[in-house]
Amino acid sequence: MTKQRWSAPGRVNLIGEHLDYQGGPVLPIAIDRRTTVEAAAREDGRVHVRSERSEQPVEFDVETRPGEVTGWAAYVAGTVWAMRAAGHDVPGLDLAVSSDVPLGAGLSSSAALECAVAVAVRDLAGLDVDDVTLALLAQHAENDYVGMPCGAMDQLASMCGRAGHALLIDTAAAYPAVSPVAADWTADGLVLMVIDTKAEHELTDGGYAERRAESGEAARQLDLDQLAGATATDLDRLEGVTRRRATHVVSETARVHACVEAMAARDWSRVGELFTASHGSLRDDYEVSCPELDVAVDTAIAAGALGARMTGAGFGGSAIALLPADAVDAVDAAVHQAFEREGLTAPECFPTSPADGAHADP
Ligand code: ADP
Ligand code: MG
Repeated sequence: MTKQRWSAPGRVNLIGEHLDYQGGPVLPIAIDRRTTVEAAAREDGRVHVRSERSEQPVEFDVETRPGEVTGWAAYVAGTVWAMRAAGHDVPGLDLAVSSDVPLGAGLSSSAALECAVAVAVRDLAGLDVDDVTLALLAQHAENDYVGMPCGAMDQLASMCGRAGHALLIDTAAAYPAVSPVAADWTADGLVLMVIDTKAEHELTDGGYAERRAESGEAARQLDLDQLAGATATDLDRLEGVTRRRATHVVSETARVHACVEAMAARDWSRVGELFTASHGSLRDDYEVSCPELDVAVDTAIAAGALGARMTGAGFGGSAIALLPADAVDAVDAAVHQAFEREGLTAPECFPTSPADGAHADP
């Protein structure tokens, strides 16, 4: 059978961090780095998958169950499982994966892999499933097959991204509302730079689950289903850790709306300020930053960025900085020097821009 290709992008979240599992607004972009899946249906109900990033091809049955496939191919098996669990007739598959999304850098190579597989299966099987629903199935795969209790932001960004736009996603409803928002800093001479810190801390998984539990506890104390529904005055009813976590959620929710307004007004200084304030909140109130992210953010700002922040779950991964195009070299050099001075592994800086979400490739 002839092979066709589908691809799905990684993402960076502009602002609205750790809000997608508590009913808040988030503002990600799909980025111009993609995971590509070459795929063909098989008659025998088996799935064969290989990746350029792994020596080992993996084979499993379409009727796979959580726990059966582990490691990198779990993202693929999980997507097949979630689509079948939703009642879709998924055929056997031959899949070959390639990608230029850095793995484990907080840019959501996992969602890119799930979403690339999901759109390939949708087209090959001729399924009638809309993009948001397909993204939620990919999230189901990551939550309940891979075992990572993430919100839906990464999969929605990868599936629904639009070139030149960020996505304002309201996660309060079970079927999230996704609204494209023009994200055109390039026309005003600015660049969005990714700083991949190369740091991966042990805490990533445990810390994420711990934050979810702490936020859930804050919501419980306030008698709310979702913490993003809290107000500034509610905070007075909380103490200690739960108060700090809730302070982040309330202030970050306000910053997302302020950022959307500032982007519409092309007030990029304000966008930068909001990025930097978001980072401070994630560092001090939500406590998910790490030395590498703090060095990246502080150095980028000192070297000319309008603002910078960690993006994604934290405890390592990447930061983003919004900066004038003519400051790119200075910021890149300053960040490298600072990491060297601090004895940290060399980071990688690259510009990115908002790209289209998952689709069939020519
Ligand atoms: P992130 O999503 O931020 O990149 P994760 O830890 O969530 O980090 O996902 C990274 C994991 O996803 C990798 O360790 C690997 O198991 C899997 N993965 C993602 N992309 C690929 C790929 N192209 N080939 C093989 N495995 C991949
Ligand atoms: Mg991931």
